[in-house]
Amino acid sequence: MGIAMGTDIGLDIAALILLGILFTSSILRRMTNDISNRIFLLLIFVVAASDVFDIISVLLDRNPNADIHMLYMTHLGYLVMHFLTAPVYLLFFISLVDTWHKLKKDIFLQIVMIAPSLVMLAAFILNTSTGLVFSVDNGYAHGPWFSLMYINTIIYVIFDVVCLTQYRELFSLEDIIALVAVMLFALGGMLTQMLVPNNLIEMFCGSVSLLILSIYIQRPEDYVDSVTRLMKHSAYARDMKRTYYNDKHVTVIMLNIGNYDSVKSMIGFDPAMELLKKVAGKVHDINKKLHGHAWLYYLDNGRFRIVFSGKNIKRVDAVAEELNRQLKQPMNFNGFDITLSPFIVIARCPEDMVDFKMLMSFGADFHKKNYYTGSVMRAGDIYSKNQLDIQTNMDAIIESALANDRFQVYYQPIYSITQDRFVSAEALIRLIDPDHGYISPEAMITAAERNGAIHKIGEIVFEKVCQFIASDDFAKLGLDYIEVNLSVAQIMNSDLPDVILSTMKKYNVSPDKINLEITETAAAYAQDVMTENLDKLTKAGLSFSLDDYGTGYSNMKRVIQLPLKIIKLDKSFVDENNNPKMWIFLENTVKMLKDMKMEIVVEGVETQEMLDAFSDLKCDFIQGYFFSKPIPKSDFVAFISDANKAS
Ligand code: C2E
Ligand code: MG
Ligand code: MG
Repeated sequence: MGIAMGTDIGLDIAALILLGILFTSSILRRMTNDISNRIFLLLIFVVAASDVFDIISVLLDRNPNADIHMLYMTHLGYLVMHFLTAPVYLLFFISLVDTWHKLKKDIFLQIVMIAPSLVMLAAFILNTSTGLVFSVDNGYAHGPWFSLMYINTIIYVIFDVVCLTQYRELFSLEDIIALVAVMLFALGGMLTQMLVPNNLIEMFCGSVSLLILSIYIQRPEDYVDSVTRLMKHSAYARDMKRTYYNDKHVTVIMLNIGNYDSVKSMIGFDPAMELLKKVAGKVHDINKKLHGHAWLYYLDNGRFRIVFSGKNIKRVDAVAEELNRQLKQPMNFNGFDITLSPFIVIARCPEDMVDFKMLMSFGADFHKKNYYTGSVMRAGDIYSKNQLDIQTNMDAIIESALANDRFQVYYQPIYSITQDRFVSAEALIRLIDPDHGYISPEAMITAAERNGAIHKIGEIVFEKVCQFIASDDFAKLGLDYIEVNLSVAQIMNSDLPDVILSTMKKYNVSPDKINLEITETAAAYAQDVMTENLDKLTKAGLSFSLDDYGTGYSNMKRVIQLPLKIIKLDKSFVDENNNPKMWIFLENTVKMLKDMKMEIVVEGVETQEMLDAFSDLKCDFIQGYFFSKPIPKSDFVAFISDANKAS
């Protein structure tokens, strides 16, 4: 602040240099169209302008011949710019939490926020005739209303603090520390200067505050993907969290390139990056051409997001259609023609995606769970909210099922062609959740493998099966054995043999009554633990089936090495039996397996025709809806007693 002679403008000039560097680096680094970036630039500009006015006014103060109007204007310029810093900093805060849409609707809040600035401006206008804020008539001097400057700053700092506390969840601890440090720095500068007016530290403090913001808060590098120049996953997560937190309505075009992995492995890493750039360029150009004004993101693995808000939402369909049209066309790439499978889904938030978690889990893999149709899809059409809800809350659903003993075991009969009767059954887990209804075993098992609940669930299933085998009902049915599924994680668990053998002992179940199903995927792992487990269990007299044969990578060598009694042909074979080549393959597979003295179960037989076809092939057993779906234990007992009595 220009306080007569004896003040040194060295610090002011240092501040100006610092601001110059910050401004240029912010322009150079400004790679996003993020509004907070623009306000940050405005903030630098305001602080720099007040600094320049300050320097000029100090120089003029020293000059006894200075023009009095000039002197007045530079001091006024300094004070106006200086007071503007506080409201602009508040705007910066608001842009960080992205609450414009709320502010637009709330007139009262707008008035509260603008009022102090209006009072201050009015004081400046009145000052020309009254000199209430400051005067330069006998050298620069504060007027009685000068304290309005301080009051104004303090009011805005209070607003900042309120904003920060209300939205603290949106900031990391590091952000909060930086934002508070900035406020303390600015206040500290102001106080020092109030107490020691000759010390021109305030501007310097202001510019250091901005440096802190630039280092800790405004870091486009953290948020911009270096390859595509679009915003990154972290920016998407940050922005969408804010969106949900502020009840803002947006519509997201989710673009997942379904065949990105295979394209990448085909063309190699560097060309794949070039390809991503091309796609990003198209996304960018289409958004621009159709005036989408959307935020553009590149997450990872060929996943792009285009987020529309406000009145731009009505451009979503046009942008999505154009993207789909352009991305489906083969792209010439270093001489090859590459065709992408762009899965494009339009999702309204929060109507289709009720919360942030759901948005993220849906976006992760919808391209793996749906067939590629080539047309733009809507989130509401491909997933019912309930299914999505289940996916998102699977961990909680499993936990609650374990706590409330909700897991059930159903049985699906297995028919022997040679004996013309039902000889065994497969135990299949069922879970009905009170809130979500039927839970698909596959989705549930996948989640349970991930969160570790699979072992507990496996124990429950095995215990229920042993209980059943030990019951009188079972004895009357004359069944040979029950097949129990083991997932990969279970087979890799070194506790498995103990759990199985001790449960069998507890119910006095003999080992020939149990057959354990393992999958081809498990068989592909050449793991010592697994081999040991299979050895122990085989020695104890249990037998094994290979489930879903024909779906995985058939590592025949492993299959030969494993102690398998039964091979279960997957339903996909059955579904393709019209294909003459498949039939030849099937005939030979069956012959080979029979020569190896393995028994064959055909899974997924739904019609008499298929039953006849596989009987002709001399398979041993048939399992499928043709005979029965998996049914609860009591129904199963009734079913088998009736059926076997009849035959
Ligand atoms: P899986 O072991 O291959 O079981 C056969 C699946 O095919 C069952 O699905 C069964 O309901 C279904 N299926 C049987 N016949 C037909 C048919 O004619 N047509 C059709 N369309 N489907 C048929 P489910 O019960 O949904 O089980 C899915 C998978 O979940 C199972 O495949 C198995 O891998 C896993 N699973 C089920 N229960 C357990 C369990 O207790 N433990 C473990 N680890 N995995 C389990
Ligand atoms: Mg099975
Ligand atoms: Mg199977």
